[in-house]
Order: sequence, then structure tokens, then C-alpha cells
Amino acid sequence: MSTFATERTNLLGLPRPALETFVAQLGSRPFRARQLMNWIYKRGTGEFTEMTDLAKDFRARLAAQAEVRPPEIVRVQRSADGTVKWLLKADAAQAFEMVFIPEPDRGTLCISSQVGCALDCSFCATAQQGFNRNLSTAEIVGQVWLASAELAREAAGSAAAAGAEAAGERRVTNVVLMGMGEPLANFRNVVPALDILLDDFGCDLSRRRVTLSTSGLVPQIYKLAEVSNVALAVSLHAPDDALRNELVPINRKHPIGELLPACWHYLDEQNGRSVTFEYVMLDCVNDSPAQARALARLLKGHPAKVNLIPFNPFPGTRYTRSPAPVIQRFRDELLQRGVLATVRRTRGEDIDAACGQLAGRVIDRTTVRLGSKIIGVAVQP
Ligand code: SAH
Repeated sequence: MSTFATERTNLLGLPRPALETFVAQLGSRPFRARQLMNWIYKRGTGEFTEMTDLAKDFRARLAAQAEVRPPEIVRVQRSADGTVKWLLKADAAQAFEMVFIPEPDRGTLCISSQVGCALDCSFCATAQQGFNRNLSTAEIVGQVWLASAELAREAAGSAAAAGAEAAGERRVTNVVLMGMGEPLANFRNVVPALDILLDDFGCDLSRRRVTLSTSGLVPQIYKLAEVSNVALAVSLHAPDDALRNELVPINRKHPIGELLPACWHYLDEQNGRSVTFEYVMLDCVNDSPAQARALARLLKGHPAKVNLIPFNPFPGTRYTRSPAPVIQRFRDELLQRGVLATVRRTRGEDIDAACGQLAGRVIDRTTVRLGSKIIGVAVQP
């Protein structure tokens, strides 16, 4: 990367009002920002020379001071089921991941909000590597921009497209912040990114097709209600505080009794339909019929959906996945009590792209350990 590249303003990090200011500073009219966004997000180009409806001298000033720079791809892995995982470079030593999941009626991109994570949920692979840093707004939006560009390129190459058709939708129609990191712990960068994802002139996604998943940072859920209206998913994983303290340690600070009212408040403010509660199915830990009934008591009568996630094991974990009949029974207990529940289909298992497995691994790496806890992953030059 040249020195120039890092000094220029990365336009992928600017929501429309900030881009208008930037454009004005370059001596152009603010409405040019919309034209610029149209090129970047609708046409998928970051080459200013191609933006032929912009004045030549304005393009020259853009080229000198701005750039459209998505994260660099370190490695791509493709699953037999059509899922694609990209390992992306954060800096010389660190990497993060995004995953595209094609389905017949939608293409979901699962993006990261941080490199690593500080929350230390006991069943999560990302937690094992500890926290490294927040991703910037440009790195968050850049994932969506990059995946869209890569998928379009793939579709243009006929051989790849032929195989891809069978696997379903190959465009990004939905975005979930369910990759590495806790999005609400990176509030400052995530909120402008959401603005760009929803902006008609940006990625133009409807608010129901963008889902933010949180482990339950209660004050930030209230703050989010004031500034955004994306769909909310909450990682619940246990029906009582004693068990949730163990699985999702942030619960000690923000227990279930505070978390649920924050969720209902969010829906009231956003005129939202329901909150999705994620519940990872851990064998003999949180999967008994009695625990399903306790969960139903918590959620009954509220606009809630439960998404049961079969646990995805990773090296070193002490948990195993609940057997399929146990998951079905758990779901039935919820349904019988009037609580909507679905079981998430596991995708991309052959490439470690399934939920909770994103750990930013790279091929040649040195793992830096402090005691038994991995604190960082260094890429060898
Ligand atoms: N920090 C956010 C978003 C990232 S995790 C959050 O906690 O919601 C996205 C989802 O994957 C969460 O529901 C998380 O609990 C779940 N998950 C983490 N590890 C998992 C694993 N090994 N198997 C299945 N789901 C897992």
C-alpha cells in the first residue's frame, strides 16, 4: 500500500451528509455526493476516471484526495453448499472474516464489526483470540461493497456462474452483523455504517434486511433506538441469570431483567415487528425441556422469535452440539407455548464458516499466547 493511499479519505467511510461536506470542501456542489454514491454503490466502481458525468477537474481532485478502498482479501474459501468465506486484512498482523450465504430467496452477507472480541462468551471461537481493535466505518461498509463486487465478478465469469446458479441467490440482499466482534461495543463506527447500508444512494437495503446482533449491551440498545431502526437480534442463550452469567459474561453487568425491557423499548421506538433471540444449543447445558419452558415464560406475549443455533464446535471447546431430536423437542416446547421458534440451518461447515467459528485465522501465523489464552494472531511476512 502506498503512503498516498493511507492519506486519502476513504469514501466508503462517509455517510451522505459527511460526503456532502467533503465534496463541498473539494469545491464542488454538495449534490454531487449523490452522483458519487451512485457510481460507488450502484455501479460498484471506485475508479474516478470512469465517473464520466462528473467534471474532469473535480475527478482529478477526487483522485488526489480520496479513494474507494475496501479491505484487502487474504484468502477465499468456498464451501460445497455455495457459502463463501473471505479472510480480510486488518493490518500487517491481523485478519477478520466475512461470510456469504446463498439461499434460494436471498443472499445473506455476515460481516464483522471488530477484529476479535472482548466479551469472552464461553462457546464462541472469536472470544478465544481476545480483542484486537474496532473496525472503521469504511472497513464495515467495505465488506458489503467488496462482497458485492466479488459476487458480480464471479457471475460475469460464466464457469463460476454456472455452478453458482444451483446454489441460489448470488447477490447481497441481506446483511447481518453476526461475524466477529460485538457491534454495539463499536457503536461510533457501526452506526454510520448502518446509515450507508440503508441509504437509498448507498447500499439501499431495507431496514428489515439489515440485522444487528448483540450479546446484550443494554445502554447501547437504548442509544441505538434513538439513531437507527435496523432489525435487532439478541444472543440470549440461557433462560436464567445463573447460566447466562456463565455463557455470556456481560450478563453479570446487564442481567436478563434489564435486557428484555431494553429489547421491547427498541421495538416500540422503531415500530419493529419482533426481536430475534439467538439461542445456541449446547448439549446438556441449556437444552432441557424445562429450560425451554422457562424461556417460553420469559418471552410469551412479547414480539419475540427464537432462533435455535446448533452449536458449531471448534478446536479446544468444552461444549458439544445438542442432538437433533433434543433441538426439535426444545423447539416444540416453545411452539406449544405460543413462542415462535426456528432452527438455524448450519452452512459452510466444511470451511469453518458456520456461526461462531470466525476467528480470523491465516495460513502462516504465529499465535501469541498469554497463559492458555490466545491474545493475538500474527501473520508472518
Ligand atoms: N457479538 C454479537 C455478534 C457476533 S456472534 C452477538 O453476540 O450477538 C453471532 C451469533 O453467533 C451470536 O448469537 C453468537 O452467540 C453465536 N455463536 C457464537 N459462537 C457460536 C458457536 N460456536 N456455535 C453457534 N453459534 C455461535
